[in-house]
Amino acid sequence: MPNKLELSGKKFGMLTVLEDSGKRKGSSVLWCCLCDCGTTTFASSTELSVGIKVNCGCIPKTKNNDYIKQQLMKPQMNNTSGVRGIYLKKRKGGANRWTAVITLNGRQYYLGAYRNFSAAVKAREEALEHVGDSFAEWHKEWRKKTKRTRGSPDPV
Ligand SMILES: [Zn+2]
Repeated sequence: MPNKLELSGKKFGMLTVLEDSGKRKGSSVLWCCLCDCGTTTFASSTELSVGIKVNCGCIPKTKNNDYIKQQLMKPQMNNTSGVRGIYLKKRKGGANRWTAVITLNGRQYYLGAYRNFSAAVKAREEALEHVGDSFAEWHKEWRKKTKRTRGSPDPV
């Protein structure tokens, strides 16, 4: 039997994966998921990872990206910055960096480490504009682009 993808606890769109329902859809595990609206629903590993299913059906997929964006912009007080997705990474010698990340479709995307807090916020805001079906592609391009500046002694 192939290794089962462990998705419990991960979030895809509005769906939080609760547990393996024990059911299968073809060879795919059917997961029991909780939608942000409070409804429980089933979704297969494929539907979740490819982004076919992003909620229980309560919001049309076209509007869902707006909803996800709103969620990603909500403030988060339990981290080092108070801003969702921005973390202070302490480094030896006091050269601390603000690290920006975005969590989307169960994956955390790295958005760079910055000396200036506002630069980290700006990087994340830029990424937010690309939230949608093609985000992974955008991020791949972004990584390619920023790779060139990596290794520069003092990133902004
Ligand atoms: Zn729902």
